[in-house]
Amino acid sequence: MPLELPDSHDLTLLQQRLIDWFASTARDLPWRHTRDPYRILVAEMMLQQTQVDRVLPRYTAFLEVFPGLETLAKAPTATVIQMWAGLGYNRRAVNLQRAARVVLAEHGGIFPQDVTRLQQLPGIGPYTAGAIACFAFEQDVAFMDTNIRRVLRRILVGPDSTNQPSGDRLLLPLAQALIPPGQGWTWNQALMELGALICTAAAPACQRCPLRVHCHAYTAWRNADEQAFSGSAEIIDYTTTRQRTVRRVAEQRGEAFVGSNRYYRGRLIAILRELAPGTTLSLPQLGAQIRADYTDDHQSWLQSLLAGLARDGLVELVDDRVRLPTE
Ligand code: SF4
Repeated sequence: MPLELPDSHDLTLLQQRLIDWFASTARDLPWRHTRDPYRILVAEMMLQQTQVDRVLPRYTAFLEVFPGLETLAKAPTATVIQMWAGLGYNRRAVNLQRAARVVLAEHGGIFPQDVTRLQQLPGIGPYTAGAIACFAFEQDVAFMDTNIRRVLRRILVGPDSTNQPSGDRLLLPLAQALIPPGQGWTWNQALMELGALICTAAAPACQRCPLRVHCHAYTAWRNADEQAFSGSAEIIDYTTTRQRTVRRVAEQRGEAFVGSNRYYRGRLIAILRELAPGTTLSLPQLGAQIRADYTDDHQSWLQSLLAGLARDGLVELVDDRVRLPTE
């Protein structure tokens, strides 16, 4: 069955229900009070894979140190990485500064407004470009993040396990057609808010959802519940299996992270961030600080980790010693 939009009557109702819900429920977040593309970019970079509660104090602190594009572009990269402490995925800090430097050097400090040109900035992909075009320049642009993708997929396709193609290539045109004209800012904020507060990955609160009468996933789960009450063991398992799967995946993600290369990359940056500006460490010094079992046998592994960090602009290697970037 092809993916399709609700008919125009239902579509209008769906749009109005979500917008009304957002008006009555939306959290008061500082990036919702600005249309400054620099501040929107900072917020969007911080919010990628990081919870709002963790971002809030760091967003404020970051903007106190780097209140505008120019201050960020001209700062030493080491200072930017230091201000990123606690957010993880440090490469985002370097990409953020690279984007600021390109906007300053090549666009006279004025952000491009067009999605295609925004995507030409370093580290800015389709999601961030769409978010800036929409949240800073109020364009009716559709884009996908984890929350928006999950909400739209459940509404238009069905439960997460539904075996129907629904990649971004198919979802994006529908996401675009769902936007009420002239209300792209509110619509996209509302979709993200619904995904964060109600339609969460592990436990969608359908009974509190303003869109449940429009939602394919809700209909499927409700039908499953009704059949379960009428005695179908196979369908009883449908819901419980879904919840067990979500929990197991979350647990596996946590276990896989500790000891992974991403874990050690984060540890390396955290140690270098604590040093006085320009201070270097030798490989054995650094190795001994990130793992208690460090020996010479780990040196090539450590070198390849550091080479990756250097390629991402997060460290500098100077005569077999390591430091945060000084430029
Ligand atoms: S009804 Fe449930 S599954 Fe559908 S959008 Fe709302 S919370 Fe998500």
